Amino acid sequence: MKLILASNNKNKLRELKAILADMDVELLTQSEAGCDFEVEETGTTFAENAYLKAKAVFDASGEAAIADDSGLTVEALNGEPGVYTARYAPGGHDASDREKYEYLLSKLGDEEHRAAKYVSSICCILPDGRVIRTEGEMPGRILYEPVGDGGFGYDPIFLPDGCDKSMAELGTEVKNRISHRAKALMEFKKKLRELDGTYK
Ligand code: IMP
Repeated sequence: MKLILASNNKNKLRELKAILADMDVELLTQSEAGCDFEVEETGTTFAENAYLKAKAVFDASGEAAIADDSGLTVEALNGEPGVYTARYAPGGHDASDREKYEYLLSKLGDEEHRAAKYVSSICCILPDGRVIRTEGEMPGRILYEPVGDGGFGYDPIFLPDGCDKSMAELGTEVKNRISHRAKALMEFKKKLRELDGTYK
């Protein structure tokens, strides 16, 4: 099955490709599928935004579409940045990963309560219009300064619960086994196999 990722984010594409490698799917970005538009994320939840993105690409391409809407929620910031994670820093979407995580660190300052979680909401619309939705979370805490240079986004400042390494130090193989995105996609694979026996 051809599956269009409703995003042009190369980091998400790389992680989705690795986690879905055991499935018979050909994953393309939305620009590779000729969908040269940005979907406005007007939803108030990760799940709503994932659906908006998948639906726009499904309607435009006529192919199955999958979207990952994800982000960080920080307890001491009342759940921020949440659905605004990608555009939280001054500069919005154009801010670099470093500017984004440095802005979050500046918002938290010396706050000692640093519990946070990554959330990934997956929405897939199959060729016949059926919708699969799943969600995965990764609890952890925000470090006081960045450590490591792997992963992407906020990974250098995120310490997963039970780990002694930041998400950026874990390495691709480990991250793709335990991350919020891995959990959401494992559940997605299970649901897809239940719906359609051809996806062993
Ligand atoms: P969106 O899903 O396109 O709205 O963007 C989600 C944003 O959350 C990304 O731009 C990253 O900044 C951040 N994010 C999501 N997943 C991860 C991850 O696995 N590591 C680090 N940052 C992430």
